[in-house]
Amino acid sequence: MGLDLVTLRVAFSLMALLLGLLFYFFAYRTTRAPYSGWWCVALALFLTGALAFLLDGTALQRWTNPLGHVLLVSGAVSVWVSARSLRRSPPRPLLFAAAPAATLVACALDSPATNTWAGGPVFLASMGLLFGLATREMWPAEPAYTRVRIPMTASVGLVSVFYLGRLIAFLTDGPGGPTFELLFGSATTTMLTMVLLVVVSFSMAGLISEQQTRALRMVATRDDLTGLLNRKAFLDLAAAQLRDRAVTQGTGALILADLDKFKAVNDTYGHAAGDMALQAFGAACQDTVRSTDLVGRYGGEEFVLLIPGASAGRAEEIAVEVSRRLAQVPTVDGLEMPTVSYGVALYDAGTSDVEDLIAAADRALYRAKSLGRNRTVHSDPRG
Ligand code: GH3
Ligand code: MG
Ligand code: MG
Repeated sequence: MGLDLVTLRVAFSLMALLLGLLFYFFAYRTTRAPYSGWWCVALALFLTGALAFLLDGTALQRWTNPLGHVLLVSGAVSVWVSARSLRRSPPRPLLFAAAPAATLVACALDSPATNTWAGGPVFLASMGLLFGLATREMWPAEPAYTRVRIPMTASVGLVSVFYLGRLIAFLTDGPGGPTFELLFGSATTTMLTMVLLVVVSFSMAGLISEQQTRALRMVATRDDLTGLLNRKAFLDLAAAQLRDRAVTQGTGALILADLDKFKAVNDTYGHAAGDMALQAFGAACQDTVRSTDLVGRYGGEEFVLLIPGASAGRAEEIAVEVSRRLAQVPTVDGLEMPTVSYGVALYDAGTSDVEDLIAAADRALYRAKSLGRNRTVHSDPRG
């Protein structure tokens, strides 16, 4: 191919070193996510493996050639572990040692002092298999899958296919054969892996920043105690929902809920019991409605739900069901769950302001309280 393998390997090592350092300081240290830690380990192993191969042809080759193969296979193991930790499955240390150990034995028994391809088939098969396993771990299978992972998964999958192709060419053509030299030789491999390491590193950095953004958004939009939307997030999302007529089908219901005589719960059973009742109520709301409906903690012991498409009758059913669920929550120390009052306001295609809608539901809720609590009152459509 006319490409000087030594130069390529030096360039590869330099690039892996830089990439590893950049990744360590700018990606890993900010998150300490296991997958990014294992990616740093993989880069370090690829780097040292490529350096070991630089000593091919010297008196040290007897030791450095098997070492280089074992380091590269260990790097592939690290890629697999990194991919596994994306799904948080526990590592299996014994399994991790199997491929490097097999490569070491095959290499040591294949006159590594003179044969630069000592243990070749075992090495190539291990690399293809490990990258294949990593691809399987990265494959889109869970709902949290995001587009950032596509280039990463594709790159690792490509490396796997490439190594399996090398294995086939090695077995049919031999390491000195023209097909192997042209398509699957060490120079081609070094260049290809160089490019793909960059792609995977950037995808991983993208994944990290995406997860951080998601975590920050979570903190900013959720109520600490109940995990429901906080007031501001509810108002923002409800406003967006009202703007988007295709989703709301034009009409729907907003339900404001207020726990009855909640002060007495705190006074009688303590603040912690009160908190527990609030959490139970939040869960009852969430379990009753669809996952696409909005449920928020409006403040203190007041909650708010936006149910697109719901009629007055459906809103009433939801209120009854939430209260039924709350009453059924098992409690300790004689705590009795409070009853709940609801105010319902319906909206139609002409409604544009969430605050107006909430004000209408609040007036209905006030009437529910004055009528004796533990009931649902609908707002007068004429205001
Ligand atoms: P009503 O039936 O008229 O709604 O009576 P109420 O006692 O529920 O209403 P009030 O507004 O007088 O009291 C609300 C109570 O909710 C007072 C406050 O201490 C309690 N509260 C607000 N936020 C929390 C919280 O996060 N945890 C606990 N445990 N209590 C809270
Ligand atoms: Mg209240
Ligand atoms: Mg109350």
